[in-house]
Amino acid sequence: MKLSRVGIVGAGQLGRMLALAGYPLGIRCVFLDRSAASPGAQVAPTLTGDLEDAAQLAALASCSDVLTFDWENISGRALAPLEKLTRVRPPRAALEVSQDRMAEKALFSKLRIPVAAHAAIDDRDQLLRAIRKLGLPGLLKTRRLGYDGKGQFVLRGRGQIDEAWAAIGGPGLIYEKFQKFSREVSIVGARSASGHTVFYPLSVNSHGGGILQYSIAPFANPGLERRARIYSKRVMNALAYVGVLAIEFFVVKGRLIANEMAPRVHNSGHWTIEGCVTSQFENHLRAICDLPLGSTRALGHTAMINFLGTLPDRERLLAIDGLAFHDYGKEPRPGRKLGHCTILKSRVAERDSALSEALKSIEWA
Ligand code: AMP
Repeated sequence: MKLSRVGIVGAGQLGRMLALAGYPLGIRCVFLDRSAASPGAQVAPTLTGDLEDAAQLAALASCSDVLTFDWENISGRALAPLEKLTRVRPPRAALEVSQDRMAEKALFSKLRIPVAAHAAIDDRDQLLRAIRKLGLPGLLKTRRLGYDGKGQFVLRGRGQIDEAWAAIGGPGLIYEKFQKFSREVSIVGARSASGHTVFYPLSVNSHGGGILQYSIAPFANPGLERRARIYSKRVMNALAYVGVLAIEFFVVKGRLIANEMAPRVHNSGHWTIEGCVTSQFENHLRAICDLPLGSTRALGHTAMINFLGTLPDRERLLAIDGLAFHDYGKEPRPGRKLGHCTILKSRVAERDSALSEALKSIEWA
């Protein structure tokens, strides 16, 4: 059966880029989103309503050959009934695992993928015990609904315990040992329903305040890339995964320590739009629509820079040779991802100098 109608829960920039990748393939996306002016709603039809609204989710599923996600935090309870109406890809289990940092780490550990030492925290005494056991520095994070550094507190000394508890204290937390990493890298891969997998080259990600500022790819490190692929494949196979999956790692003393996974297309894979034969967005659609997966070969050396809080001067950036500009059509707000640009060059040195040039126009607000 030909799968061409894709329902997307959430119409943020990820959904928008999925819909745009779908048009040339003859794939039509429909969204469900709270806002009729969301980035996705600007490019494809959108049902409006709460993302967990049972009736609207059922309406979306009923007009779709396959349902997928821009936002992975839809509860398993809201998703379960939809499995009777259409295909849900990636599978519900993948979303449920990624919604809880403890479940995610448990899965990684079960699959022999290294993670930071950690403990579940539900009250202040548990935090004191965890700090005694695991030491400082460490991060106190919410187990659920934390993203882009939100719901996190870096604890450097015992004197900060009260401050951390006042900021995010309560049940449902995790304490993680701070990783002294040399780099943060991520692997984006795709798996088809028949079990075929493809992987993009690693990207190196630079964060500020927990939010991605820019990525550089490909990161040519065959040893780490091999490891990352093995780990990603283990996760995908364990979950009978269909679609694109991203895993973020810390590189500590030359070893990969898994931080978290995203059961969807990922910000650190935006460079693949211009930087690879087939983008992560197209490969996600290909995977969930039972089409052959496309080549993940890199076309050169890229840098992807996020526009955070404010949009930079478009004219100045477009004057840089090999730069592509992406505006998500959002209202500016501090820390909000409003767009990105990707620089594609054939040589590393050219990429690096264009990146320095572009960064002069960027202000992360
Ligand atoms: P997360 O929301 O878990 O992706 O965290 C956002 C960012 O915070 C990461 O990309 C890191 O830069 C930093 N971070 C998170 N957890 C740790 C950790 N255990 N050790 C060091 N840095 C961390």
